Amino acid sequence: MNAESKVTPVHLKRAAYLYIRQSTLRQVLENTESTQRQYALRRRAVALGWPEDRIVVIDHDQGQSGGSAIQREGFQRLVADVGLGKAGLVMGLEVSRLARNCADWHRLLEICALTHTLILDEDGLYDPAHYNDRLLLGLKGTMSEAELHILKARLVGGVLSKAQRAELRMPLPVGLVYDADERVVLDPDQQVQQSLRVFFATFERTGSAWATVQAFRREGLKFPKRGPAGTGEIAWQELSHSIALNTLHNPRYAGAFCFGRTRTWKDVEGKCHHQQVPRDQWRFLKRQAHPGYISWDQFLGNEQRLLQNQQAHGGGERKAGPPREGPALLQGLVLCGKCGSTMTICYHRRGGRLTPDYVCQKRYIERAEDICQRIPGGGLDEAVGQLLVQSVTPLALEAALKVQSEIQARLAQADHLRQQQLQRAQYEADRARLRYMRVDPNNRLVADTLEAQWNEKLRMLTQVREDCEKQRRLDSAQLSQEQRARILSLASEFPRLWQDPKTQDRDRKRMARLLLEDVTLRREEQEISAQLRFKGGATHQLRVPFPKSAWALRKTKPEIVAEIDQLLTDHTETEIAQILNDRGWHSSTGSTFSFHIVGRLRRTYQLKSRRQRLRERGWLTVHEVAHLLECSWTRINYWRNAGLLVSLRLGEKNDCLYQLPSATVLAEIRRRQRRQCWKTDNISTCI
Ligand SMILES: [Zn+2]
Repeated sequence: MNAESKVTPVHLKRAAYLYIRQSTLRQVLENTESTQRQYALRRRAVALGWPEDRIVVIDHDQGQSGGSAIQREGFQRLVADVGLGKAGLVMGLEVSRLARNCADWHRLLEICALTHTLILDEDGLYDPAHYNDRLLLGLKGTMSEAELHILKARLVGGVLSKAQRAELRMPLPVGLVYDADERVVLDPDQQVQQSLRVFFATFERTGSAWATVQAFRREGLKFPKRGPAGTGEIAWQELSHSIALNTLHNPRYAGAFCFGRTRTWKDVEGKCHHQQVPRDQWRFLKRQAHPGYISWDQFLGNEQRLLQNQQAHGGGERKAGPPREGPALLQGLVLCGKCGSTMTICYHRRGGRLTPDYVCQKRYIERAEDICQRIPGGGLDEAVGQLLVQSVTPLALEAALKVQSEIQARLAQADHLRQQQLQRAQYEADRARLRYMRVDPNNRLVADTLEAQWNEKLRMLTQVREDCEKQRRLDSAQLSQEQRARILSLASEFPRLWQDPKTQDRDRKRMARLLLEDVTLRREEQEISAQLRFKGGATHQLRVPFPKSAWALRKTKPEIVAEIDQLLTDHTETEIAQILNDRGWHSSTGSTFSFHIVGRLRRTYQLKSRRQRLRERGWLTVHEVAHLLECSWTRINYWRNAGLLVSLRLGEKNDCLYQLPSATVLAEIRRRQRRQCWKTDNISTCI
């Protein structure tokens, strides 16, 4: 069947679709010949009978790979139009241009067969409804996919082999550049170098990426970044947390070449995803591949520190975060003695100073249960500080060094024993070898058994030798004379530094962390029990009395209260304040007494007031006296001023109590009252 006979008027009534695609934009720009050939197919369509105006060119997918139909609008439109029966002919330079993916290709073939659409490429015209043509097209699609695969494999193979030799040219982080010989060197720009050195030194000092960013901000330092691609220029920017983290996590700053730090894949929607790969799964890692800013050990240390900081923030296993500004000495080290969770810190102000409380509130936060326990930290921190200072004394260090030398001596003995073990294993292996050599090789049964025994002995020998070497390496960490001297000098340095008021809380916390592994706290009846675990494994139990509450601290001494109680009988509160001040006494807050303070103390300790005391002794109020004298209460003042009534002031106001007048005084007042009445009667009659 020739090409023309496949084309029927039904086909010609529908449009012819010319599909043009180049995989990459570079191909679009450089490989113009191929594009020309693709457009030349138009003429073929015209020759087959399609009028010019019914040839649809689809070239939306220039620069898109044929690996998938996703993100290829043109291909999707083509499939849609074929499905709707609009197409009579689909043209492509090679069918591989249509789809490099077999699934997409076969779907297109299927639809073409259903809608009686022809397919045309440079080699010929095909009708997918015909078995032979369909077979050929299927094969072409498979070949096309295989071609893509081989291409990819070659490219990736080349990249991998270069990466293995650490010669693959990869984008370098700022601060590193390729020189003329394609070797990685430090950026010759001294300012860039200096910034990176300051960056790593700051992290070393502060121990946290965030603190490094803060330090840069505080000091107004900028961090370098690459300018627009290709210009080789350096721009300066504010250091951000993410930049700091990226810089710290980048092994190239430690002079290492690595490949496979991230994994990239596309999802069903064609979206690209990147994932960080753990260090032990990197494809290639070559240390000391080029100069760097830090050593590999420093890099590992930084990673470890970042991990600890992250764990401290993001839950997971307990680990102390970086030491922070607040004064809580045991920040990040405290464990709850009741439930084992990490305890957090709350600060509150007390007497103008920040005082920490250690709180176990994990369950409170997660499950809204009650707070497990809350332990005041002020006194505890002080006690732990004292203990640390006491632990680092010349005597303690001397003892520790002595123990260390004794252990070393014992290690030598153990090493001798291990050497003997090694000799023995060697001897047994030699004997097994001899036995094997002596046997008649034709006697396979015996020879095989002896060979197996020899192998076993050799394996044991290797094992013993390895163990021996490993242990020896571990034991060989002897202290040099200089190291011993430095340790001993610590004894005087440490307490001085600890007590120096200029030492910051954060540094004090760091020192505590060098010595302490963790501290388990438990609140008991009258005291706080703290179990300290030192780095070396030693433990120490501390018992700290519960700090007095604010109320208890302000409590007035009992003798003062007793004195006030006694004085109240004969004195007003103002007089009492004066008497106490004259004696040089002070209130619990250290101030002088006033009638306010005395009054408050009287009420707090429920002492009887002066009024109560006088009333109990039979003293009368002004109304009672008035009743007794059968006169208006306003007259009482008159009789008092006349010296007939005895009164006592109760407080600051003119509030008084009156002594019960004696019978004579009473008679005298009555007499005067009568006389005064008579006088006033006379005056009124005169008028
Ligand atoms: Zn707890």
